[in-house]
Formats: sequence, structure tokens, C-alpha cells
Amino acid sequence: MTDRLTNLKFFIRTFGCQMNESDSERIAGILRQAGAVKADRAEEGDILIVNTCAVRNKSEEKLYSYLGRLSRLKREKPVQVGVTGCVAQLRGSELLKKKFDIDFILGPDTYGQLPHIIKKGLAEKYISTSWSKDWQETPPDLILRESSVSAYVTIMEGCNNFCAYCIVPFTRGREKCRPLRSVLAEVSILADRGYKEIQLLGQNVNSYRDPDSGRGFAELLEEVSSIDGIAWVRFLTSHPKNFGLEIGEVMARTKKICRQLHLPLQSGSTAILKKMKRGYTKDDYLDKVAWLRQLMPEISLSTDIIVGFPGESAKDFKETLDVMESVRFANIFSFRYSPRPLTEASALKDDVPFEIKTQRLEEAQRLQRKIQIENHRLQVGRVMPVLCLGKGKKTPQLYAGRNEGYQVVNFHSEKDCREKFVDVRITSCGPYSLSGERIDSR
Ligand code: SF4
Repeated sequence: MTDRLTNLKFFIRTFGCQMNESDSERIAGILRQAGAVKADRAEEGDILIVNTCAVRNKSEEKLYSYLGRLSRLKREKPVQVGVTGCVAQLRGSELLKKKFDIDFILGPDTYGQLPHIIKKGLAEKYISTSWSKDWQETPPDLILRESSVSAYVTIMEGCNNFCAYCIVPFTRGREKCRPLRSVLAEVSILADRGYKEIQLLGQNVNSYRDPDSGRGFAELLEEVSSIDGIAWVRFLTSHPKNFGLEIGEVMARTKKICRQLHLPLQSGSTAILKKMKRGYTKDDYLDKVAWLRQLMPEISLSTDIIVGFPGESAKDFKETLDVMESVRFANIFSFRYSPRPLTEASALKDDVPFEIKTQRLEEAQRLQRKIQIENHRLQVGRVMPVLCLGKGKKTPQLYAGRNEGYQVVNFHSEKDCREKFVDVRITSCGPYSLSGERIDSR
């Protein structure tokens, strides 16, 4: 290997979604293979990478404030600062015109170049935002995973939908699906290594098609779930328009697929959904939820909500609240609309004032908080399996994990149960988590 980075430490700060977290594990693996070592803090690193998210204006602003911090650090010691991910792809060389001292900019398809460009010493600023039309395989051993029990497995990237507000098709490109055989090979390796939970990732997993055989997402789910040793399978993100009957049916008949689904609603108003180019109506969405609940009464549903999309009236917003009341989501990710470059909606007048967006956001979040407390109270007294993901720092007997519905469960255990399944009796709850005691039934 010519591009050895021995004696160098790297630090990665990740903004955004699980896709970005998964990409950061891939970047970390590439740097580890080249001989660099992971640092716990930016101050300890020689290579500082910011893996970025461009979905909302606010995430870009957070990036710029963080880059300001790294630029100050760079004045104190010789470090290389790199920007990767969606903002790198979107802004490219524009980033160099800002006041930050950035050494390299790499889009999502170019991470393999990292060791080479770092080793080169970067006499000049380096930018690479080229696209690959085909799926680029990352060998499973080249991923430095954060957890040794729960693993992200990317099955597709990019999106062909062009929802009016969304920048993803411009930062991640068109859909590229990973061959089914390579998905299954990776999951089998993970199962052999003791992983219990697999989270299948893609911008729109429901439209997955195996490039070799044309088999779809439902078949992939069934195959992944049949691998011995894997206990829980989850997936995201789904699209209400592409979430077909066959996917719900596979979920209902396959115990290993968690009764949990993230199904982005975005708005409860059919008129706004149409302007957003989402391809479904409020009634389509509610019908799908009713059908899913008929198949799996215990299913836990979460969603995304955008408030203040151009033209959203008080009545439109009220319809969003009505859908939230009716579906009673386990969790929501809610945001104020902000126009993103290149998108169709950026040509519309951003006519809902910021204060109104803020009021609507607060109202939606207040309602959701109430729903979550009510949902959580129904769980007090129940015993449920929890995958323990970590341990409290201050209180050694306090652990944290997730239940099948992906809710956070904090619990007390006398025995060390990190990275194991345990049964927990829920004794109390708050709006954002459940609390309980481990019971010795395993
Ligand atoms: S489905 Fe729509 S919101 Fe989701 S990534 Fe594609 S364009 Fe964006």
C-alpha cells in the first residue's frame, strides 16, 4: 500500500441521517485500512473530516459554524480539514470561497480517494465530486462500525422522485441499487460476527430492484430475514407511494422484521402534497396506515413533517395536525420549510412568514409530545425485549437500548448486558423514552 497514513489520527463529525452515519463508518474504515487511527475528539486529530447534510438550510448553517471552529483549531496545529457528503457535492468549489481553511472536498461517490489525497500532502486544495452511474461496492471489512451488535447495510442510494422541496436527487444522484447477492453476503458475514440487528438503508428502499434479477424490496426483506443469527431487521426510508402490499405482507408474516416503520407524511393536506409532488393524497396515506394496522395492530409508526411549505394555509396545517391526531405516531421529525437550491420549490414564493412557521412547528411538536406521553403510558407495566446499546456513564447499573418499536428504553440491570437482548419491565415513562427494570427471563 503506497498511501499509508501511519501515525496519523482522524476525527469525523457527522451531520444528518443514518445514511451519513453509515458513510462515516465507511470513511473511517478506509482511513483505518490506510493505517490511521480514530481520535475521540477533534483536538486530537491530524485529519478532521466533516461529513455533511444539505437537506435543510439549518443543517448547512450548523456546518459553517462547525467549520469556523475547525479553522481556529487549524491555526493552532497543522491539521488537514476535509468536507465530505451532500454539502460537498452541492457546493463543491464554492466552499473554498468561504473564509474556512478547507483542504479537500469529496462528494459521496469519491471516498476511496481519501488515503491518496491525504498522503499527497495537499500542496493544492483538492475537490472531487464526480458521479459513478453504477453501484460502488464497499467490502464489509472496509467499514469501521460504531456498534458490534447493530449494523447499517446500504442497499441502494440516490432517488428518482424529485419531490419539489428535496435536494437529495441533486446531492446523491439517481437511484443505484446494490446487487442482492452482495447484500446477502454482507448480512451473512455480520451474522457470523454476532450482529443481531440489521438496518437496511437507502433514500427510497421500497423502489429497490436487484440489478441482476429484477427482484424487489419485499423479496430482499424476506431473504435477509432468513439469515440465521439475525434477530431484528429494520429499514428506512420508505415512501408512501412505493410502499406496496407485498412489502406489508412480508412484514406481517416474518417475525424478524420489526413492527416498526418510518413512513414520511410531510403534510396532511392533499393540496400541499400535490405541490410537494409527493404522489399520494391524505386519504391514500390514511388508507395505507389503516391497512398496515389491520395487518400488524402493534406496528409503531414514525414520520417526517414539514411545516410552512409555500402556500400552506392555516387550514392546510390543521389537516397535518388532524392526521397526527388520527395516526398517533410513535415519533415525528418535524421541520420548518426552507428552500434548497436546484429544487422545484425554490422557484416558489416562500410566503409563510418565519414566525408563522415557528408557531406551527411548536404546535405540531406540542401535540406530538402529548401523543407520545399518552402512547408511552400504555406501555407501563409491560415486559418487552430490548436490544441494549449502551451503558450510563454516571450510573453504572443504568443501560439504554431500543425496543422493537424503536423507542428508547432506559433500564436498570445488576448484570452487564451491553449488546445483548434483555427483557425489561416498563415502570415509568416520559415523552421521549420509557424506563424500567431488567427481568431475568433470558
Ligand atoms: S423520495 Fe422525495 S423526499 Fe425522499 S429522497 Fe427522494 S426526492 Fe427526497
